Amino acid sequence: MSYLYTIDQNTKINLSGYSTDRIDKISKEDAAAHTSELGTDLNILQEAMYAAATHSLLIVLQAMDTGGKDGTVSHVFKYINPQGCNVTSFKEPAPDESGRDFLWRAHHAVPLKGMMQIFNRSHYEDVLVVRVHDLVPDKVWKRRYEQIEEFESLLDTDNTIILKFFLHISKGEQRERLLAREEDPDKAWKLSTNDWHERLFWDKYVDAYEDAIGKTAVKHAPWYIVPANDKWYRNHAIAEKLVSVLKHYKPEWETSLKELGERNKKELAVLRARDPRLAKEAECEKERKG
Ligand code: AMP
Ligand code: MG
Repeated sequence: MSYLYTIDQNTKINLSGYSTDRIDKISKEDAAAHTSELGTDLNILQEAMYAAATHSLLIVLQAMDTGGKDGTVSHVFKYINPQGCNVTSFKEPAPDESGRDFLWRAHHAVPLKGMMQIFNRSHYEDVLVVRVHDLVPDKVWKRRYEQIEEFESLLDTDNTIILKFFLHISKGEQRERLLAREEDPDKAWKLSTNDWHERLFWDKYVDAYEDAIGKTAVKHAPWYIVPANDKWYRNHAIAEKLVSVLKHYKPEWETSLKELGERNKKELAVLRARDPRLAKEAECEKERKG
């Protein structure tokens, strides 16, 4: 069963061919219940990844404005131990970023072994907003697809699991969400006049997303197009994908953990053999417990 679309090889993408509405009949109640079960699984998987520290996980979240990146971070990742997960939000580059190559800030933020890293926007902005607003010459952004592919390939060979999610909403849904932000005092802080302005460039963003997704989708760094008009469906689809990918690594992580445990035991035995005080303490404790 698939709740989203997987793009894992270079291909021509036409976003109008992908639904923004849910593509599975699961009810809101069932999805909510299942998302929380998946959250428990995700927590266990993340702990195994953290402890084994052989892999890291990079999650890229991209979407049109109001597409649900922030909501995904708060609803899908609330199940994760905060010690094992970091979020980087990519804003307009600061001087120390714009003065360096476009991948520098992304590379600077890649996860340590054992860690999960969420990119809320990402290096893909450099072929999206940058292209839509002509912030660099065409020949510069056109080279970037290949540069991104090589960057992600480097991360892959270094055991970084890469999952890229495009939260796909319709233009009508965006209007509703922007209006809701205007009307709801609790959401007004999120309202950005810039979002209404960017909306004028919707079609240009669609073109840019179609190329970004189609030109950088590979087996080791796939794109997932998530039907995202319904927030609860989106959360469930993403949680389900994360669990289904990570669970393949679990046996490997458990083997590493077992080896680590055995190595620790051996090291401790050596230490106790060397220092009789430590051996004695361990024996006393065993006796005390009977
Ligand atoms: P938000 O995610 O709503 O906080 O907005 C962040 C803003 O930063 C968006 O308008 C992005 O398009 C913009 N942004 C992110 N990366 C870049 C970039 N590389 N160049 C220009 N603008 C960017
Ligand atoms: Mg915004």
